[in-house]
Amino acid sequence: MALKLTFFGGAETVTGSNFLVEGTKGKLLVDCGIEQGRDFCQADMYAPFAYDVPSLDALVVTHAHLDHVGRIPKLLKEGFKGRIYMTAPTKDLAQLIMEDSARIMAADARDKGLPLLYEERDVAAAMSHIDVIEFHKEWEAAPGLSCYLRNTGHILGSASVRIRDMGDGSDGVTLALTGDIGNTPSPYLPDPEAIDDADVMVMESVYGDRLHTHVDERVDELQKALMEAIKRGGTILIPAFSLERTQLMLYEISNLMDAGKLPKIPVFLDSPLAIKATDVYSKWGSEFFKKDVQAELKHEHDIFRFPMLTQTLTREESEKILEAPEVKIIMAGAGMSHGGRIGRWEQKYLPDPKTTLFMVGYQAPGSPGRILQDGGSQVRLGGNMVTVRGHIQSFSGWSAHADRDGLIAFAEMTQPRTKTIFCALGEPSSARFLAQRLHGFLGVNAIVPVLKQQWEITKQGVKEITH
Ligand SMILES: [Zn+2]
Repeated sequence: MALKLTFFGGAETVTGSNFLVEGTKGKLLVDCGIEQGRDFCQADMYAPFAYDVPSLDALVVTHAHLDHVGRIPKLLKEGFKGRIYMTAPTKDLAQLIMEDSARIMAADARDKGLPLLYEERDVAAAMSHIDVIEFHKEWEAAPGLSCYLRNTGHILGSASVRIRDMGDGSDGVTLALTGDIGNTPSPYLPDPEAIDDADVMVMESVYGDRLHTHVDERVDELQKALMEAIKRGGTILIPAFSLERTQLMLYEISNLMDAGKLPKIPVFLDSPLAIKATDVYSKWGSEFFKKDVQAELKHEHDIFRFPMLTQTLTREESEKILEAPEVKIIMAGAGMSHGGRIGRWEQKYLPDPKTTLFMVGYQAPGSPGRILQDGGSQVRLGGNMVTVRGHIQSFSGWSAHADRDGLIAFAEMTQPRTKTIFCALGEPSSARFLAQRLHGFLGVNAIVPVLKQQWEITKQGVKEITH
């Protein structure tokens, strides 16, 4: 008997991670995320899952980003009875992300008449199914399917999962799914761990055809840009992604101020989600950060908070930012300026030529952030047309994903064991580019899977069996 792998999401697209793995006896899902960037009201997001949910034994979650956890409560609504496995930080972060998502959906249902994908009580139901799993501990996640988690250095608690088929008559074939792979070196997250025991691997490919600004150069680039923005004499706005990018920015700004490379201007973290996520980072840092940073944490209180930082959790606290001097940094969600508190600050400050807006993450086509990044002179924010006179500056080195060379180096560590690699979780062009490189450099069978495609996996190789 062989393993069966079906791509129910994350094929030909970056988001919507959702893979079904069936063994001789048991079956489990890896990730259950939302597909982002397309129309939120798309029918297929609301459609029932394409597999029999009540018969699933388990769900293994790689990390807490919305495109990996965003549909877990919907799974519960459709009768999921199994256990949900993830690392301890992922559990804390996933709760924040799912609750936030339920709140946004409730508001959209109220204001725009959109159907409800799930409610907060479905999130609570999902939380009650979660079992925390440590890295490097093999366990039987579903009958006959044993799993093993390794760190991937992408966000706090992020993991790859290696699945071994142990059912009757199985050949013991192993399949690994990488989830998202980190951009190295991170100042505090450990490097992604090598997967050296998988016969077949499903790997992410979001930047399979691109290179980032080198990690060593990005802090200098940020420092120079901040100094120029301060000289302009206006406010600096940073639309922030709540997980990882926010913490990385806080860490670097804190270090620059400590080293005297940046004047001590007020910094505001104006996002309840990002504030709570930073608390989770602080809570688990002593166990999940790099060894030298763990040691640093024993002496130092907190690597993300510093004297000039003010966290504005409530609406009233947020309003008080207006009383601060003109030259200040405001970090607020959402990352693509499509919601949250950043829109309010952009409406106020973008008409001022002294303002600087920093773009530190991916901006999906059609989002207000993308319009700003592309040099739009007007943008619609919170129902108002806003004239843009401020300075817009984009950065490419702050991604939490490995670039082309990072992905190839990661794949190289699987050798000589891994003979087949599926390039998933990327746009078709980058997945195809990466597949060609992997085939050329490593001689592996590199495949770009298609949505709903089903594959049979044995020690001898893979075979498409889509019905
Ligand atoms: Zn991710």
